[in-house]
Amino acid sequence: MKVFKFGGASVKDAAGVRNVAKVLSHFAQDDLLVVVSAMGKTTNALEEVVKAYREGRNAKPLILALQGMHAMALAEVAPADQAAATALAASFDALKHYVAQPVQHEEDRDYDHIVAFGEVWSTLIVSAYLNSAGFANKWVDARKIITTDARHRAAHVKWDLLQGNCATHLPSFDARPHRIVTQGFIGQTEDGSTTTLGREGSDFSAAIFAYALDAESVTIWKDVPGMFNADPRKFPDTKLLAQFSYKEAIELSYFGASVIHPRTLQPLQRKGIPLFVRSFIDLAAPGTTISEATDHDTLIPSFIVKPDQLLMSITPRDLSFVVEENLSGIFKLFAKRNVRIELMQNSAVAFTVAVDDTPRARQLAEDLRGEYEVRWNDGCELLTVRHYDEATLTRLLNGREPLVEQRSRNTARFVLK
Ligand code: ASP
Ligand code: MG
Repeated sequence: MKVFKFGGASVKDAAGVRNVAKVLSHFAQDDLLVVVSAMGKTTNALEEVVKAYREGRNAKPLILALQGMHAMALAEVAPADQAAATALAASFDALKHYVAQPVQHEEDRDYDHIVAFGEVWSTLIVSAYLNSAGFANKWVDARKIITTDARHRAAHVKWDLLQGNCATHLPSFDARPHRIVTQGFIGQTEDGSTTTLGREGSDFSAAIFAYALDAESVTIWKDVPGMFNADPRKFPDTKLLAQFSYKEAIELSYFGASVIHPRTLQPLQRKGIPLFVRSFIDLAAPGTTISEATDHDTLIPSFIVKPDQLLMSITPRDLSFVVEENLSGIFKLFAKRNVRIELMQNSAVAFTVAVDDTPRARQLAEDLRGEYEVRWNDGCELLTVRHYDEATLTRLLNGREPLVEQRSRNTARFVLK
């Protein structure tokens, strides 16, 4: 079995959905599990539905707009599939019914329940189209396979249940190839409430399915020809990284390279399943291969810029030293507010961190103010350079004076204003 993943941009409209078949036509004999994200910006639109619902506003116009877009796409790609049209309409009815009820759950649980519809709709459409285009497949509800804990919006997978779930819930096939179409991003608790794996989590879903099925490979189909040493939209002269190791890929995605979701690599590494990142536009392009082969690492300088950073400096009000005791209290607050530390540094009396500038992060600063003096610099940028050389650093810094600088043997990081 090969696992394929198509993101929202690749299925943003009817033409995108049709292109999935074009990709599959190159793998006509293969058993495939195809993981699909919500179409285009649907997840963002559904986040607005959540907001409207939670604030007691009428969410129906937002839902009707989404319904129009999805129904039109389905009518365009699989006009004769009545069953799919009925299933799509029923799914929209279920959402309308949900938001017509008074709020009764915690917000994050409502969030997961509502945003998960995006992946259900996209997969209904893709599955119907593929069936009509001669790629017989079965639609599977990913929630039946991916059991998670109840940490809504950032659910953790129950790995030990996966194989059993597959045995019970994956359909059987009369003929080869076996093709399954299923959702990225979503899972379910053991008592049946929908969860999500975090924004952009569909890559991770693909890895989870690959792990469960001992797949031969995972391919992420993208609108770019692979992974580059920097974001080609922001830097000139970027180079394709043809082949590198899981470890290097984990480092790059940890530092913010946005091509693959950071959690995707670990399950693949555990089973030695290679990951290909390839272009759904240029099928002849070789793309990027991520696998065990460490001697093939492309060790050219790779750089990643994270904008909108808040550089926070936290000092005990009594100017006591920053030691394990207060650090553990500070870390607990970060965990509680779910604020990820991008970079940290400490001196005798100050602990300095760079974090994404979000309302949660600013709230955290308020939480800290009781015991600490908190100062911050907003509008900062975090630059990470893997396998740096001085020429690259000089060019990237371009005369700017970093507020924080850290270097290890392989990685240089800078907070810049
Ligand atoms: N549809 C979800 C999102 O936009 C998951 C994904 O695209 O991977 O975050
Ligand atoms: Mg998406």
